[in-house]
Amino acid sequence: MTTFVPHLRKESLKFSDFGFGPELMEGIEAMGFETPTPIQQQAIPAILEGRDIIGSAQTGTGKTAAFLLPVIQQIVASKKPNKTRALVIVPTRELAMQIDQQMEGFSYFTPVTSIAVYGGGDGSLFAREKKALIEGAEVVICTPGRMIAHLLNTYVNFDGVETLILDEADRMLDMGFHDDIMKIIKHLPGKRQNLMFAATMPDEIRKLARKVLHDPLEINIAVSKPVEKVLQVAYPVYETQKLPLTVHLLKGRDLKSVIVFCSTKLSAKNLGRQLKREGLLAQDIHSDLDQKTREEIMLQFRNRKLHVLVATDLLSRGIDVDNIELIINYDVPHEGEDYIHRIGRTARAESDGIAITLISEEEQYKFARIERLLEKPVTKSTVPPDFGDTPEYDPSRRRGGGSRGGRPGGRSGGRGGKPGGKSGRPGGRPGGRPGGRPGGRGGKPGGKSGRPGGRGGKPSGTKQ
Ligand code: AMP
Repeated sequence: MTTFVPHLRKESLKFSDFGFGPELMEGIEAMGFETPTPIQQQAIPAILEGRDIIGSAQTGTGKTAAFLLPVIQQIVASKKPNKTRALVIVPTRELAMQIDQQMEGFSYFTPVTSIAVYGGGDGSLFAREKKALIEGAEVVICTPGRMIAHLLNTYVNFDGVETLILDEADRMLDMGFHDDIMKIIKHLPGKRQNLMFAATMPDEIRKLARKVLHDPLEINIAVSKPVEKVLQVAYPVYETQKLPLTVHLLKGRDLKSVIVFCSTKLSAKNLGRQLKREGLLAQDIHSDLDQKTREEIMLQFRNRKLHVLVATDLLSRGIDVDNIELIINYDVPHEGEDYIHRIGRTARAESDGIAITLISEEEQYKFARIERLLEKPVTKSTVPPDFGDTPEYDPSRRRGGGSRGGRPGGRSGGRGGKPGGKSGRPGGRPGGRPGGRPGGRGGKPGGKSGRPGGRGGKPSGTKQ
């Protein structure tokens, strides 16, 4: 594998330096993107040259645009009607929808068509996906299971696929999609470009890369470490103090976009209920809710009609909501990678953010493991005096269960200050989307065939 040589990179690269056509540039501008992020600066030229890529980059680095933009450009440059040209395989519906939204925004002024194939919904959705596949939507964004369901029929023709993108490949392997991915790949032409992105690079990912990629360029962005700009703070507390502390952190602070992560559905449901009772605009979201309800909740959250989402790890990866002001880990996640994904929901792209973790006595050992992964301790903060004593942070003494007998050390030290203080952070990510995504969810104006410059209309299943 070749590793990108950083000194070759021009820090001042602009989107116009990539040779994108005017229609694509218009979409990029309308999306509010001004300067390419590091992964975009590295990946876009290589993808345009036709290289295979293995990118180690978590959500929040701009990896979606890093692969979508050159793919759109390649399709615009050599239009071959009614053929699927690029296939993006992702682990979850949420991620498929998020990529589809960006796709819609960037391609808004181009004739490029796309469809997200992710299941859920009713039979009419399947029929719509089928129609778009038959008509050859040029970019297909899919989850593995749903694509397999379509491939069981004969109408899918991937002979024209030139680029395969595996996004969050590590997550897909974790979810047991290896065989499904390989089955889908069997339907693609052998000669094609392959792009693979993963937040972590365990051995299984390297193995998959060897099977799928050809002489890939390796790009590493913030290798599985949280974005440096996230201010991380932790409160060692007793379990019973978590609820009042969460309420204290949220109430009266004018926070409009907060995610509280819980390790279990039950704890998310309970906490959601309690926060609502406290008068907060809060809502729990987890896999017990159907897809439609989850989408409605996410929409309300994006529109700031809901201020606090209480979520399980379902949301810790792949969800794209701009300017999350605060992440609270109500429970310490089991895996360090989950911690990284959770706190990666804040400090997206150009903005900074805050992540607060509440650590019960029993969870101290788990949190110490996370700190080892981070290679640095997280600042410990103290609760206001009226919360009473708190446990001392001493994970080595608590291995295997936590000391329940007494409260050694009483209130622990720490001068981390009150993290809530940053809540009034003005502004947001430069290059955000002041005017919103062009076209919104409703598709391009003028319908599928009435779009100016259209060439016989988009496949009718697209952009629904
Ligand atoms: P991603 O890592 O692809 O999930 O992107 C994270 C967020 O950053 C998304 O909201 C993108 O719209 C945004 N973003 C990506 N690249 C840029 C850029 N060059 N300028 C501004 N925002 C960006």
